[in-house]
Amino acid sequence: MLLRSCRRACVPVRGCPNPFLRRNHASPAPERRLRSKRTGDDNYTVLAIETSCDDTSVAIVGVKDAGFLDSGFFKPNRKEHKRLGLDVYFHEKITANNDAYTGIHPLVALESHRASLAPLLQRALGHMKRRHAEQDGRKLWEDYEDEDYHDGLDNNEPVPVPEFVAVTRGPGMRSNLAVGLDTAKGLATAWGVPLIGVHHMQAHALTPRLLTAQANWLPWVKDDGQSDSCRSHDELEPAFPFLTVLVSGGHTMLIDSKGLTEHTTLAETQDIAIGDFLDKAARAIMPGQMLRPPFGAALERFAFHSEVIQPGIVLDDDVEIEGEARGPACEEHVQPRECRYDYTPPARRQDELETRPTGWGWALTPPLAESKGGEKSSRRMVYSFAGLLTSIERLAKRQEHISLVERQVMAREVQRVAFEHLASRILLHLSSASEDWKGDTIVVSGGVASNKFLRHLLRSVLDARGYSHVKLSFPPIELCTDNALMIAWAGIEMYEAGYTSSLDIGPIRTWSMDPKAPDGGILGVGGWLKDDKPISEG
Ligand code: AMP
Ligand code: ZN
Repeated sequence: MLLRSCRRACVPVRGCPNPFLRRNHASPAPERRLRSKRTGDDNYTVLAIETSCDDTSVAIVGVKDAGFLDSGFFKPNRKEHKRLGLDVYFHEKITANNDAYTGIHPLVALESHRASLAPLLQRALGHMKRRHAEQDGRKLWEDYEDEDYHDGLDNNEPVPVPEFVAVTRGPGMRSNLAVGLDTAKGLATAWGVPLIGVHHMQAHALTPRLLTAQANWLPWVKDDGQSDSCRSHDELEPAFPFLTVLVSGGHTMLIDSKGLTEHTTLAETQDIAIGDFLDKAARAIMPGQMLRPPFGAALERFAFHSEVIQPGIVLDDDVEIEGEARGPACEEHVQPRECRYDYTPPARRQDELETRPTGWGWALTPPLAESKGGEKSSRRMVYSFAGLLTSIERLAKRQEHISLVERQVMAREVQRVAFEHLASRILLHLSSASEDWKGDTIVVSGGVASNKFLRHLLRSVLDARGYSHVKLSFPPIELCTDNALMIAWAGIEMYEAGYTSSLDIGPIRTWSMDPKAPDGGILGVGGWLKDDKPISEG
């Protein structure tokens, strides 16, 4: 299914059901910035590739200006806005199989990119051909259910040319990035279209904004077939500034996103990433037969959902967290009332640093709780998980037999302490910047963001410490982890701001996002063009 619904009560339709709107479609659109440079059309298509780590992913999206909806029939007096609308034509990924290793083996990931990228692209381009033919009015499928149904496309039919090709340029494993980047350069050169070398972390940070654009794409009809409001958002949400907490297998970062290319790192891990930490903690704590990748998710299940647990902590089974995009902020997914975790947030800063007895003769010390060499590490804007990992590994090895119930307490405690540590730097920043910070949203992204206890804990901590007005936004899980759709979206935001890349760019292993960093941040590296001119020439 190519179309996505963002509200469960509505079904998506191809084209707007309202005849007046159809007339608006046909009338000449007023001049706006969103316009294909190549064809002059209001719509364009983008191809995107991601190969920075162990996921090979390809996306093809349609982009249009959804602003006409407010300029015509529905809101005639309304001021024109540029409204990006986004539709996903194709989005798939293949993850390298690293089950035999404790982490990601770079060569296994590299081989997987080599084997997967071209076949994925072949399928993606097939989808693009079909979509364009449909948009030209050709009816290709009569039965969408029948996989074997001949779609009527001629194999020799040329592939439509996208507006530009977006690809992850860094940061990441250089040889892995090169598989995607070189392929993207080849395609851009052959088609004669611009290339955009996307900053992977910028793409993670911008992900929630693409949900607004998705919601802008189509009007909706209610289940009874009547037209619902054709809604489109005045601005992409969240608007800058907002905070991003990026929690993945390779990153633990708190980022202040002030603008498209201005993202300041407020805190990051000084040793291992939180996802890596949870994976290793799961190996230490869990019985081998219950371990399934991703280990972080297995640890969450073991701690809060598995049968061996004592009564007391149960998540409502019907609480759906994964699933469809539902607009920019999935706040309803994180209200404490949805869950019945037996969790009390630290009421004061002091309480964050205390150890909590477990009843098993051990307690975990929060990271950076102690002062070292006179420096008060508890207030340093860094994360650290290595010490906590050593503690839990020692604890799990200290005796031959540890009961399952005690192991479950370890699983819960290790998540509580790690997540409270994550929250502590958010609180430190909010308390020091509350006067200056004009934002109201914290985006939480990365594979670890799918943890429901993390969502519950962050909401509870913010509420308990006077930040109940601050929204938490969690992109859908499939967009939290590495994917090409976010690369397409970051490319679109950069393209709309006038940026493209030169064809001589190479992959970048480490690349900061902060304009004040020694490498100059996103725009500090060579190879950017602004309005087709090298950036250094102004
Ligand atoms: P990423 O690097 O963004 O692809 O995310 C992968 C990391 O997320 C791995 O370390 C996983 O173990 C972790 N992860 C995935 N699901 C969960 C979950 N439900 N709870 C905690 N960690 C998770
Ligand atoms: Zn990533």
